[in-house]
Amino acid sequence: MNSADTPLSLDSLLTKIGREHGKSATAVNPPVHRASTFLFNTLDDFEAAAATPFDGPFYGRVGTPTTFAFEQAICKLEGGHRTIAAASGMAAISAALLAFLDRGDHVLVVDTVYEPVRRFCNRMLARLGIETTFYDPAVGADIGSLVRPETRVIYLESPGSGTFDIQDIPAIVEVARERGIRTIIDNTWATPVFLKPLSLGIDVSVQSATKYIVGHSDAMLGSVTATAETYDAVRQATQDLGAAAGSEECNLGLRGLRTLSVRLRQHEASALTLAKWLETRAEVARVLHPALSSFPGHEIWKRDFSGSCGLFAVELEPCDPQSVREMVNGLHHFGIGFSWGGYESLILPVHPEKTRQVMKWDGKGPVLRLHIGLEAVEDLQADLAEGLGKLRPA
Ligand SMILES: *Cc1c(COP(=O)(O)O)cnc(C)c1O
Repeated sequence: MNSADTPLSLDSLLTKIGREHGKSATAVNPPVHRASTFLFNTLDDFEAAAATPFDGPFYGRVGTPTTFAFEQAICKLEGGHRTIAAASGMAAISAALLAFLDRGDHVLVVDTVYEPVRRFCNRMLARLGIETTFYDPAVGADIGSLVRPETRVIYLESPGSGTFDIQDIPAIVEVARERGIRTIIDNTWATPVFLKPLSLGIDVSVQSATKYIVGHSDAMLGSVTATAETYDAVRQATQDLGAAAGSEECNLGLRGLRTLSVRLRQHEASALTLAKWLETRAEVARVLHPALSSFPGHEIWKRDFSGSCGLFAVELEPCDPQSVREMVNGLHHFGIGFSWGGYESLILPVHPEKTRQVMKWDGKGPVLRLHIGLEAVEDLQADLAEGLGKLRPA
């Protein structure tokens, strides 16, 4: 129905991927296969399944029809060879890194990386004798000067966590390809709706599906999408680590996909409305949102991405820290908590001055990260206006 020569538009594709349709008397949504064990009629059947364990039900950790359906759906969106579902975004990321890194190797990781990934590098990878160098997200083709003979992986995240710095993905990919280095990107912010990293030459795209894919803040899920060349290594690492996703979570991921583009359009529109309004406010020093023309990486963002999501940050003018706490605590529509990508708005302070290692943060005021949810944008604006009114000079 959905053959390669008749490409479906994204909205239609999202209603069809990862489920059977067209057969008589089938439920719209496929059943959730809760299984560790799959039974076979004969040893011959069992051994045949064992020969290709990732192509059909064999053992729960290897995959169930539900996890395979989720994997196929994400793979279609990312345009990869195959996708592997993982227990969380961190499970996906750690498996992808360990797939290519060995004792004595060196990895280049962007300095605006999601903080738990930095910790993974500084603790786990360091313990295994793998050295990490953090690099400036603006490095571009100059990444070549950081490459060593033992560099095996360049890890990207664009926009970066906290401050949304944009990377020149094609320029970095070109250097990596010349030198036989694998590239992994965290595609959580854009989702494959707004960025297709593999089409830019990236080898492996990882996502925290916990965010927009699941979309309702009620499950942990990750995905690793690989090229034909890198798939075996990544599949083996996720298996060796036991990082498999559960069927229930994959089902929630599939459910989230059905509304992904509709939700993202609303997140995008509301976030842009508020970002532009925040730029006009006296309390705000800068709005860190790649889709604003004022943002330093905007031109590169426009070249490579087809849209933006609901997550951005504001740097406030220097003010009394206690008044920032009062603002955050007093908001009615913005929850205080980790994660994002659900239907609800969230707010958290971020501290680029504490986390960055190679690029000094030049901001002077506090930075707040906002996730703009699906609430009425007028309600969110009124809420933020009231909050900003509580700020007092330092
Ligand atoms: C949340 C997040 C992760 C980690 O995902 P989990 O599903 O929470 O493990 C990775 N990268 C980015 C950019 C994230 O925001």
